[in-house]
Amino acid sequence: MPETGNAPTPRNQFSFSRVKSYHQCPLRYRYRYLKGFKEVFRSIESYLGSVVHDVLEWMYTEREQRESPSLEAALQLLADRWADGFNDEITVIRSGDCADSYLVTGREMLERFYRSTFHRDRSQTVALEQRLNHTLSDDIVFTGFADRIGRTETGRLFVVDYKTSKKEGDPSEFSEGLQAPLYAACAMRKNGEVEALAGYHYLRHESTRWQSVDAARAGELLDRFHQLARNVNSATDFEPRPGILCAWCGFNAICPAAEVPAAFSGGLEKAREINNRTPSLFEVDSQ
Ligand code: SF4
Repeated sequence: MPETGNAPTPRNQFSFSRVKSYHQCPLRYRYRYLKGFKEVFRSIESYLGSVVHDVLEWMYTEREQRESPSLEAALQLLADRWADGFNDEITVIRSGDCADSYLVTGREMLERFYRSTFHRDRSQTVALEQRLNHTLSDDIVFTGFADRIGRTETGRLFVVDYKTSKKEGDPSEFSEGLQAPLYAACAMRKNGEVEALAGYHYLRHESTRWQSVDAARAGELLDRFHQLARNVNSATDFEPRPGILCAWCGFNAICPAAEVPAAFSGGLEKAREINNRTPSLFEVDSQ
């Protein structure tokens, strides 16, 4: 039987991230979703992503409700949000990097986005950071947040997901194959449409990849996700799957299988320091 633990996520709520987490490393999934442990550090990459997303949300809200904000105002907001939210949990993983260089990267991404995409974007915003739910069965509900749902100038519904990752995604199942198209499938149903565009916008590359999702594909995607979530929900095997992501895993100081190269040891050092200070933080069992 799957554990319930003190998981913060309701047992029947399955996001794309939750399913992806199991496939990347079942033990990390178990720590986070079944035991309800909190990862002891947050990577600077994750922090950068959330601050940039906040600013994009603000830009489109301003445009929709008042007028397009200036680039200067957007960059100022980025700097303010970055400073206001920065805390001890945020950790630079790569040795030799410094936090400020990530803020510079954020500024560069935002400036490029503003001058090209935002400047010429005439689409209408339908919703920003919208929670999407779709009940797949009694015990599985798909849930997720779409960065931006909109309509093109010709009225076509679209869902776009903003990515701050270094690399553009690939079409494998857990990247471009599933996430945005799933959001598009839910948005179509919510908005009574039979077709929508699903896109990923890569902010470091200033490129967007679009794919069309029709009613038949939407059904297939939801069925596929349902099957994946059912497999995760009934899993009894939580073996560790060590790899490069161990460096970004907030459980790496307690995981017996962690493999963290010296060049990416910022998180591990932070986690060890926190665990030494608070040894009772995790109740680790032998499974
Ligand atoms: S440190 Fe690596 S192997 Fe261990 S739980 Fe995290 S991702 Fe999995």
